[in-house]
Amino acid sequence: MAEHQANDCIFCKIINREAPAAIIHEDEQIIVFADAFPSSQGHSLVVTKAHGRDIHETSEEDLQAVAVMAKRISQAQKTALSPDGIMIAQFNGAAAGQTVFHYHTHVVPRWEGEKLTIHGRKQAAPEELEAMAAKLRAVL
Ligand code: AMP
Ligand code: ZN
Repeated sequence: MAEHQANDCIFCKIINREAPAAIIHEDEQIIVFADAFPSSQGHSLVVTKAHGRDIHETSEEDLQAVAVMAKRISQAQKTALSPDGIMIAQFNGAAAGQTVFHYHTHVVPRWEGEKLTIHGRKQAAPEELEAMAAKLRAVL
């Protein structure tokens, strides 16, 4: 088991290629992949490779890297998808809406008049997620 992996953590499994994901970017500190239940077209998650439950268990270096990567992903969404706006959101604790307890930030393209549910209700088809990830990779 990798040093930072937590048992039964879906994001650690994605990082370790034990679970599938449409990966948009990866470096030593961070992985970015398509949200499987997207709130909008292009909804991406910026995830630290180190397993910390939330912002309080995440190093300042990792938080900085996530912020910079969220900007890069926003720029790629702007270029590839021309949204009217981009929402960046992050939840700590179940009471705040956190459902996966491995620190991450949502980068969500928004369009005028399109309603948002914070957690998408419908799982997207893997091939749709991969097509979206490819679009974003191409302009990153
Ligand atoms: P939250 O913890 O509330 O910030 O949200 C966790 C997000 O992870 C939700 O938007 C889920 O749709 C998303 N998610 C859960 N499991 C997976 C998965 N296997 N692959 C991609 N995204 C996921
Ligand atoms: Zn984890």
